[in-house]
Amino acid sequence: MTDSYRHKGLRKQLAEEIARKGIKDTRVIEAIAKVPRHFFLDTAFAEHAYENKAFPIGSGQTISHPYTVAFQSELLEIEKGHKVLEIGTGSGYQTTILCELGAKVFSIERQKELFDRTKLILKKMNYTAKLYYGDGYKGIPTWAPYDSIIVTCGAPFIPEDLLEQLKVGGKLVIPIGDGKQIMTLITKESKIEFTKKTFGDFMFVPMLEKKARD
Ligand code: SAH
Repeated sequence: MTDSYRHKGLRKQLAEEIARKGIKDTRVIEAIAKVPRHFFLDTAFAEHAYENKAFPIGSGQTISHPYTVAFQSELLEIEKGHKVLEIGTGSGYQTTILCELGAKVFSIERQKELFDRTKLILKKMNYTAKLYYGDGYKGIPTWAPYDSIIVTCGAPFIPEDLLEQLKVGGKLVIPIGDGKQIMTLITKESKIEFTKKTFGDFMFVPMLEKKARD
């Protein structure tokens, strides 16, 4: 795969579109302008990689809209060296945006095919995020606590294990609901206290409770 001047130009336009839509964090906008989104898509869709759209990535899943990726990334207020857990690696696009923001990223995917494919793609692109094949409802206790946790599939409820694995002061951004989801930001104020803010409707593929296949 090559990253041509044309791709770079289209990406710059996409980053500008995202800024116009209300994303203010310049680091997030720069990350969108930097990561070649067409590397994550099948050749059939690569032509359209810089449109603000979701696309199929196989196994019945989709790569998130760039605006949604930017929106969730902005809510996390990532600082260099933050430990971030992502639930739903999917194409790996969101993972690389988190890496570009300076986070140490741990990401879980429940579909083996996607996990295998994305592992190769990220390696080729020289990203060092740690990818896991497993169930996002359980998080990854081994590397906890996290500065923030991002869920990139529609969750029917807030998984208790994820709240547990958050640092005090840490943030969980999670779209909650069936069909369409309400973007929700949870801040862990103390070991037992949490505050919640909501940010309107989004559309995600569902967070599934059982592995489709092993
Ligand atoms: N962040 C991804 C979004 C992919 S869509 C990207 O940028 O491309 C959401 C992903 O969540 C899908 O790949 C889906 O397989 C995965 N997923 C769904 N339920 C999950 C679960 N319980 N644990 C981990 N991943 C899950």
